[in-house]
Amino acid sequence: MPDCIFCKIINKEIPAKIIYEDDRVVAFDDIEPQAPVHVLIIPKEHVATLNDLTEEHTELVGYMTQVAKKLAKELGIDEKGYRVLMNCNRQGGQAVYHIHLHLLGGRQMHWPPG
Ligand code: AMP
Ligand code: ZN
Repeated sequence: MPDCIFCKIINKEIPAKIIYEDDRVVAFDDIEPQAPVHVLIIPKEHVATLNDLTEEHTELVGYMTQVAKKLAKELGIDEKGYRVLMNCNRQGGQAVYHIHLHLLGGRQMHWPPG
């Protein structure tokens, strides 16, 4: 998707601190971290929002969760705990319209999230 900043990160057209990449996903540090660990895990396929997921994406989203789990362990936040979430559309707080899992950790999380 030409105007999508996350597609540009995937295509290395804009820089990002990529910490993991394979044929299906890319993970990189959030540019405005909300916690000591704040990583975004995105699919290489452009999907705008959670609403656009089809049954064909089921395996991909499951895989993104597996990558989040693996990175949480590698980053040393798995035992203390962490949060994984996806925002959808305006009221959900979505700013970038290419789906992404936020992996947040390294501090106490609060609920409700606000
Ligand atoms: P969301 O509000 O769920 O759409 O999250 C978008 C996230 O992308 C925010 O946490 C931003 O800080 C982050 N972000 C936006 N642009 C970049 C970028 N160029 N590199 C890394 N993270 C970014
Ligand atoms: Zn995109």
